[in-house]
Parts: sequence; C-alpha cells; structure tokens
Amino acid sequence: AKEFGIEKALKDLGVKDINNGTSTGSNSFGSGDVIESISPVNGELIAKVTTTSKADYEKVIETATSAFQTWRTMPAPQRGEIVRQFGNKLRELKEPLGKLVSYEMGKSLQEGYGEVQEMIDICDFAVGLSRQLNGQTMPSERPGHVMREQWHSLGVVGIISAFNFPVAVWAWNTALAWVCGDVCIWKASEKTPLCSIACQNIIAGVLKDNNLPEGISNIINGDYKVGEMMTTDKRVPLISATGSTRMGRIVGVTVAERFGKSLLELGGNNAIIITPTADLKVVVPGAVFGAVGTAGQRCTSTRRLIIHESVYDKVRDAIVGAYGQLTIGNPLDEKNHIGPLIDKDSVNTYLAAIEKAKAEGGKVLVEGGVVEGKGFESGCYVKPAIIEAENHYEIVQHETFAPVLYLMKYSGEVENAIDQQNGVVQGLSSAIMTNELKEAEKFLSFSGSDCGIANVNIGTSGAEIGGAFGGEKETGGGRESGSDAWKVYMRRQTNTVNYSDELPLAQGIKFDL
Ligand code: NAD
Repeated sequence: AKEFGIEKALKDLGVKDINNGTSTGSNSFGSGDVIESISPVNGELIAKVTTTSKADYEKVIETATSAFQTWRTMPAPQRGEIVRQFGNKLRELKEPLGKLVSYEMGKSLQEGYGEVQEMIDICDFAVGLSRQLNGQTMPSERPGHVMREQWHSLGVVGIISAFNFPVAVWAWNTALAWVCGDVCIWKASEKTPLCSIACQNIIAGVLKDNNLPEGISNIINGDYKVGEMMTTDKRVPLISATGSTRMGRIVGVTVAERFGKSLLELGGNNAIIITPTADLKVVVPGAVFGAVGTAGQRCTSTRRLIIHESVYDKVRDAIVGAYGQLTIGNPLDEKNHIGPLIDKDSVNTYLAAIEKAKAEGGKVLVEGGVVEGKGFESGCYVKPAIIEAENHYEIVQHETFAPVLYLMKYSGEVENAIDQQNGVVQGLSSAIMTNELKEAEKFLSFSGSDCGIANVNIGTSGAEIGGAFGGEKETGGGRESGSDAWKVYMRRQTNTVNYSDELPLAQGIKFDL
C-alpha cells in the first residue's frame, strides 16, 4: 500500500481508525466478525475491519432515529448547505479518495477520480434540489376548496451498495436523501469496506463542524447478514439496494413483506445495435470502452454487440483490431486500459462463462485467460475476450461481471435487432449506432428499446447524474440520481382544505342530516 501511495492517501483523508466498520458520525466501533479488505491490484491485505454486530446495529438505528427528529426540522435549503460543504470537501479530497477507490476496488485511477467527480456532481444537484422539493396544486371540484400535495421526509434510509461503485452509489442516494430530510445508514460491499470508512470520515467532519448530532450519516459493515438487519427492520422505511439480481430478488421480497419501499438497482445485459450507417469512429471506442472499461465490471458494461450482417465483417475486424491495442496491468498506472477483477471468485466465474459459451457453440475471436507473471501476482488480471455467439445461448442471457463481449448478427430491418436487444431478462442500458433518423426514433419509441437507458451514437456505459438512472425487468425498476428520482426518498401527502362555510361532498354525494 505504501508503494502505491495509499498510506499517504489515508492520511490525507484523515482516516485514523481503519479497523472499525460501524459509525454514527464522529465515533466508530464494531464488535462483529472481522472482514479483510484485500486489494485486487497486488493481493495485499489493506485492512481488517470489525463488522457490525446486532448490538452495534441497535445502537446505530437508535442514534439515526433520534437524529432524524432534529434533521427533518431543519429547513431544506439549510440541509442543502451541509451537502454543499460536503461537496466542497470532496473537491479537496478528490485525489486521495479516487486513489483509494482505485486501489481497493481495482478500477483505473481515472475512473476512481471519475467516481469522486460523480459524488461532487450529485452534491451540486442536491443543493439546487433543496430549494425545489416542490409539490403541485390541483383544482378542487368543490367550491371554496383547494387541493395540493406536499413532500415530507421519510425517515431512516438504508443504502446497500455493490463493490464496483464503492463510493458514487452511496453519494447518489445519500446526497438526495439528506436534502429530503432523511438520515442514512449505509452498508457498503464487504469487498470495499475501507471506502465506506473514508467517506463516513469526510461527512462526519462536516456534520461536526456544523454542530449537528450523531446519526445523520451512519455506516455499518459486513456481508448480507448485516444487510438483512436493515431489510427486515420496520424502522427503515426505504431500502435502496444496488447489486446482483440474485440479491434484489431476496431484498425486494423481504422489504415488501413488511410494506417497506425498495429502490432496486440490479444487473444489466446491455447491448449496442450497430446498423449499416453506423460511424466506425464512434462505434469502436464506444463498444470497446463499454466492454473493457472497469474490466467489464459496470452494471452498464457492454455485453452484446448486435451487428447488421452487411457490415458485420468490417465492424468485427475493427473491434478485434482495437482489442490488440489494449494494455492490462496496474490500474494506478495511467497507461493501462484494464485493471484486475475484484477477486479470484470473479476470475473463476469469467473462465466458466467462456467455457460455457464455447460449449454452447460460441466461436472465440479474441482469446481470454488469466494473465500471469510479474505485476500480476494477485491472480485477478484477465484478458478481455470476444466470442461470436447467439442471443439465445444460456450464458448470453446471463450477466457475467467480467470483460466478455458477445458478437451477434441481425439481418433485414432494425426491428430484428431491437427484438434481440430486448430478448433478455434484464433491462438496464442500451444503445444504437446509426445515422438514420427513422432507425434512431424507432429505437427510442414505445416499441423500441425496453431499457431504462437508451442512447443514440454513444455506448451503454457512463451515465450523467442529471438523468434518472436505472432499469426495467430484472434490473429492478428503481431510479436514482437526477430528474425526479428524489421523490422516492420522501412521502407524498395530498391535502384538501375547505375555506367555505359549507361541506359539499366529493362526487356530488348528498348526505343530509
Ligand atoms: P452482490 O449482489 O453480491 O452484493 C451487493 C450488496 O448486496 C452487497 O453489499 C451485499 O453484501 C449485499 N447483499 C447481498 N445479499 C443480500 C441480502 N440477502 N440481504 C441484504 N443485503 C445483501 O453484488 P456485487 O457483486 O457487489 O455487485 C455486482 C452486481 O451489482 C452486478 O450484478 C451489477 O450489475 C450490479 N450493479 C447494478 C447497478 C445498477 O445501478 N443497476 C450498479 C452497480 C452494480
């Protein structure tokens, strides 16, 4: 860690205690089992973190519940001011936090900085939002009456996040939830606990400087059992969970059983349709970054290219050629394009997917495999693979969280490509590369892409915070970040006020006394 400047990064971040995974603000504790944070960059143990026990959790939920009583009475623009200060702290600490993300998770340094930039951007968005938590007024059908709706704070928001965006996903949720008047408890991925400790340390400083109580921002750490403490807890009215569809299926049911709300951001199986008029200058970087960026570990990573048969050979050769230029290695070294997978389990899943694709009839165009030798001792570095496949293969229908790209053909009209693109159980991100207006509009129409994100002439990954982010079908249906995604963090109340001297009933009902 020293060699990579991580000790210094932690010092710059002001993190003193890396061993306690539970915190309500300025104090940290933990009496559960110990989890190890191991960097996939070099296989080194970074920290041993004590997880959250049931007793620790009780302390956190009680502190959070009590903080909510104070926080919700503060005017929303004042809460926005706290988020503004948090955003400014992130600006100061972008470099060390980005570096920690890169080292603990394994994504490139540029993408680590990019994640922190997303945090800053959502803080800016939330600050503006803090003056725009607007309800509507509606005309009443009754004389002397007025109708309106108001948005009220919800309470304690539980955030469960995945390893691949170890800081940004928390910020997307928490910056909005805070201005909405909620307090948050965050359970980070058990694979990236240190990122959560660093983030909590930053916000705790801001809250302390403003004399705000413990419990507005909280972290708990551990595996799914710690997540379950929140998903089964009636005191947590909203669970925002990001991760696999397998996880979402369990969390969705558990939260629904107690009539809680859930916001689910689950797996994708994202495709780019490449039409005869597509511009290769746009297609190649869009598809290659989409497939190999973050070593294929983005929920929006490009998994499938659906290419018109008339341009198939040309596009295939260009993509295969571009793969020849890619460099694999230490993600903190800016000349490398591809860093490691998160752990060896993930490497095994990747290897098994390639074998499965071959067994189902897939033809390997770019050979995968584990990279060995000096600099690759962690055993987590893999070569990005390209396989010619068909959409109906079982393995193609699954999200493999690694750099495996499937190429497939379509013939005839764009509708045939859209059918293939929609012919999976997931519905997160999608794209079309075309210079034909009619094709683009068909793709974006009600009978086009069935995904939450549909792009024209850009790839599937790399969304901006201004739009609502999320997907349909087994991606879970949740929306986070921009647009009106804030509404899920609040409860809506409809008010009717009678300022007349009569009591007319709705629908003209007569009830004479
Ligand atoms: P994962 O499902 O293994 O874990 C995600 C989180 O859920 C972790 O914090 C884990 O501890 C927790 N968890 C798991 N089971 C749980 C349970 N039963 N109850 C409560 N908590 C539980 O996912 P991962 O491997 O960390 O991340 C990769 C997955 O996340 C991919 O499928 C990817 O597509 C998805 N993802 C989706 C989005 C999105 O916005 N749609 C964003 C990032 C990642």
